[in-house]
Amino acid sequence: MARAAVSGRLTGRLAWRVARLVDHRDETPTARTLVLAVPGWPGHLPGQHVDVRLTAADGYTAQRSYSIASAAGGDRLELTVQQVPDGEVSAYLTQTYAIGDPVEVRGPVGGWFVWHPTGSGPVLLVAGGSGIVPLRAMIRARAAAASQAPFRLLYSVRTPQDVYYAEELRTRTRSDAGLAVTVSYSRRVPPGHRRPPARLGAADLRRAGWPPEQAPACFVCGPTGFVESVADTLVSLGHDPGIVKTERFGPSGGGG
Ligand SMILES: Cc1cc2nc3c(=O)[nH]c(=O)nc-3n(C[C@H](O)[C@H](O)[C@H](O)COP(=O)(O)OP(=O)(O)OC[C@H]3O[C@@H](n4cnc5c(N)ncnc54)[C@H](O)[C@@H]3O)c2cc1C
Repeated sequence: MARAAVSGRLTGRLAWRVARLVDHRDETPTARTLVLAVPGWPGHLPGQHVDVRLTAADGYTAQRSYSIASAAGGDRLELTVQQVPDGEVSAYLTQTYAIGDPVEVRGPVGGWFVWHPTGSGPVLLVAGGSGIVPLRAMIRARAAAASQAPFRLLYSVRTPQDVYYAEELRTRTRSDAGLAVTVSYSRRVPPGHRRPPARLGAADLRRAGWPPEQAPACFVCGPTGFVESVADTLVSLGHDPGIVKTERFGPSGGGG
């Protein structure tokens, strides 16, 4: 491999950078947003993710992927991590990782599941649980770019306590007629909510999404089963499979 290419990889998006935690906030009892300072961060597009690597004192390493929750801007990155039962890395990042602590990050990664802030066509975002993370970056990037692209977000969670970014989503929809947010609950609904608890289905996508004739760009993110079911339903409703983009939050990485 040419010397310039090697040097580009070591200094570019494939380089590991030492990030430090500068702030955090709990989104739900089991999900935490981490604000990282990443010196030399090259910037990113909404929808991309990073690889995070932890190294123990004995040299053991573990690496996982996490979507970027923030719009590009300077050397700060936000990630939101959901603690999974018996999860090695997610438990550390949500419970132990403290202000000032280092972690290595590499990225940005991914070029397909991205929304370009220059786009002006309608956009449908469909999130299951923590799948909201990269879609929140798209919503933030749209606001940062003062984009007029109309966005509709359908967000499926188990219970009202599982909604990430609840206050931010409420505030943004109040002040921005171009952003519509519909939350659906699969196990327990808030008092007064008329839709009974159920998984997101064709009727929800038809009611709160866009008609296929408007050819919205569709971004679907969440657990693998959720993503496959929603993507199949969108196609069965008449959306072009070529513009239904998906990101699956299955297990990633491994020990080292
Ligand atoms: C492109 C990409 C982006 C991602 N973005 C995010 C993100 O923004 N926020 C986030 O919280 N996670 C995200 N993930 C998932 C993340 O990479 C890890 O898989 C997750 O944090 C679990 O890691 P762990 O070390 O805690 O669990 P492990 O120790 O690897 O696994 C513990 C147990 O949990 C199961 N498990 C592992 N991962 C998951 C999962 N994702 N869902 C349910 N069960 C699981 C395993 O099968 C195992 O039984 C993303 C994954 C990918 C591929």
